Amino acid sequence: MLTLSRVSRRYGETTALDGLDFVVPENTYMSLLGASGSGKTTLLRLIAGFEEPDQGEISIHGERIDGQPPHLRDIGFVFQNFALFPHLTVAQNVAYGLRHRAIAPVTNEKEITERTEESLALVGLSGFGHRAISAISGGQRQRVALARTMICEPRVILLDEPLGALDANLRARMCDELKAIRERLKVSFLHVTGSETEALTMGDKVAVLSGGKIVQSDAPDTLFSSPSNVDAARHLNAWNIFEAGLCGAAMGQGTIAVRFDQIDVSPKGKAPDGHPWLSAKYLTGEFNGPTALSFFRADDGTLLQVIDHLSQPRLPDMVEGQSYDLHFAPDAARQFHGAA
Ligand code: ADP
Ligand code: MG
Repeated sequence: MLTLSRVSRRYGETTALDGLDFVVPENTYMSLLGASGSGKTTLLRLIAGFEEPDQGEISIHGERIDGQPPHLRDIGFVFQNFALFPHLTVAQNVAYGLRHRAIAPVTNEKEITERTEESLALVGLSGFGHRAISAISGGQRQRVALARTMICEPRVILLDEPLGALDANLRARMCDELKAIRERLKVSFLHVTGSETEALTMGDKVAVLSGGKIVQSDAPDTLFSSPSNVDAARHLNAWNIFEAGLCGAAMGQGTIAVRFDQIDVSPKGKAPDGHPWLSAKYLTGEFNGPTALSFFRADDGTLLQVIDHLSQPRLPDMVEGQSYDLHFAPDAARQFHGAA
């Protein structure tokens, strides 16, 4: 188990991490979701030891690792741009870590060859060892980077936006592969990403990084259906977030989140009794095949979206620029204290 307690890291005026608490359990695929600039890379660099926290503790299995040099921490790091040696072959890249590691470097050529082949087989690249790095695809480079990290059998593998450099088709395939590889290795992966879909698809657990803290860490379906605070809800596209005051006295004070599939649309004055409602102007629609999104602007400027599934259409015909009543069942709303 990897544990971070009250970890802070500042750069001049910028507070990248602010007393963050975070746990990555054993044998888990952990996704970390955060916007660009939210401190994802900083967090990984602190765990790997490329930087030190200003405050707080980092430990593995209860043993402090902050303050230790990176090569003694036994942590794997897969860099955003893969960072392979272009002049070495695939096999030489993979073997590199084993030959040059600080503790017990391997010098026996037979063992190096065997373990390199094993590692390449794990990522589905058997037979690619002799290839030049320039002669393999982006997805294959990604897997070489992973094989090179895995060969040293680290206690945790950190992946910094590992799918960011791949095109969309490849990304979906690599998602499945990364999950399968981790299940074979039984070591925890900490995968950071700015993509909600990627985080929810990959993670056994998903943590949300916002304002320098982990604001929620839960199973993906729990996070998606019950964000526990406004900051977490903001990272989930399906949730509309608005001031309770927009619904008149019905909803009291604070901030409300309602999922885009749980909002209905009525002509003005026609919201059913007992349903909180707010007035909003229809802006435009976006047809995505099996679903359609409708965009609205509330009186205070908040943008809202409502989804319709083609198999069960429920929205009326709407005219752009006209106002409608957006309403929802009272139990569909999650209410938070404080301003939106
Ligand atoms: P992310 O990976 O989520 O995009 P980073 O961890 O790279 O975010 O950065 C978090 C914040 O810390 C940003 O505001 C960034 O500009 C700042 N930051 C990161 N590294 C440095 C550095 N070496 N010097 C100054 N500021 C930095
Ligand atoms: Mg980053």
